[in-house]
Amino acid sequence: EPELSGEFAKILEWADEFRELGVRTNADTPKDSATARKFGAEGIGLCRTEHMFFEGNRIDAVREMILADDEEGRKKALYKIKPYQKEDFIGIFKAMEGLPVTIRLLDPPLHEFIPHTDEDIEKVAKYAGVPADKLKAKAEELKEFNPMLGHRGCRLGITYPEIYEMQVYAIIEAACEVKKEGVDVLPEIMIPLVGHSKELEVLRNITEKVADEVISSYNVGLKYLVGTMIELPRAALTADEIAEYADFFSFGTNDLTQTTFGLSRDDSGRFLPAYIDKKIYREDPFISIDQSGVGELVKIGVEKGRSRKKELKTGICGEHGGDPDSIYFCQKVGLNYVSCSPFRVPVARLAAAHAVLSE
Ligand code: PEP
Ligand code: MG
Repeated sequence: EPELSGEFAKILEWADEFRELGVRTNADTPKDSATARKFGAEGIGLCRTEHMFFEGNRIDAVREMILADDEEGRKKALYKIKPYQKEDFIGIFKAMEGLPVTIRLLDPPLHEFIPHTDEDIEKVAKYAGVPADKLKAKAEELKEFNPMLGHRGCRLGITYPEIYEMQVYAIIEAACEVKKEGVDVLPEIMIPLVGHSKELEVLRNITEKVADEVISSYNVGLKYLVGTMIELPRAALTADEIAEYADFFSFGTNDLTQTTFGLSRDDSGRFLPAYIDKKIYREDPFISIDQSGVGELVKIGVEKGRSRKKELKTGICGEHGGDPDSIYFCQKVGLNYVSCSPFRVPVARLAAAHAVLSE
């Protein structure tokens, strides 16, 4: 079990006396959450729920859901997954003991769920009790040429609201049960890939309806927040309108870099080294925030968001949140926190203190 100790731990304690930025972690499991806390994480800034849909044989139910004909079929499959989702969240809430936990609702490019081989299709057909050729036709129909710009993020929540409903039930039921056991919980529900305030308006309403129903049925005074990722240029440019429906913003600089540069985060390896070598880009924009492009959008997002809602909480959960140069930038634009992988938490604490001292 990794742990901080001795002089290094002491130096980080000194750093904490100076830093203003909060430091959270990106963690999807109780184990990662516990590790991050040992390194000094003050909450979870991003819990991605995608992996929970792939674990073990849950993928069969997920595929049954995606290939279903209608809402009823999707719900039938979704509620097979719900008990597992709930267990996942209970574990994470317990590990974080009342620190804020930002859980992002589902955001996979759909092609990751669609079965590709006949063997996979046969398996789902058997599991769901549906003819394989019917599922095959549906899988064909759902294929996209450009999945990263396609049916993902909150677009899934808009077209299939039952997915997000199930997740909110699982999150809030888990939170209420943990709270009933006497452990504090602070869930923050985060909607991905929002590009238009209307998307957040609709999804916030669905979230609140479900959450409030669950909270009153458990009769616990649970508080929760609803916020959004800012990871599309349009979201940053219209952040004032979006802030109307958000308690917090978290900048998803992985997608924001991809969409600002028009550069695939998955295929950039082909030519990016040449760009860096020829000094066209100063450095890899997926590692360090490109301050005049992506950074400018973050700055606009923070300013516009706060112009509409002064108390708006702002953070960053893209990979850049663990990069010292980017952390300096986050301090400069006045974010409230950065969130990074557990093993980067110590570096982030140190960089956040340096950023204040260098000011
Ligand atoms: C991001 O886009 O920066 C982000 C944190 O989300 P993901 O990497 O899961 O797309
Ligand atoms: Mg993203």
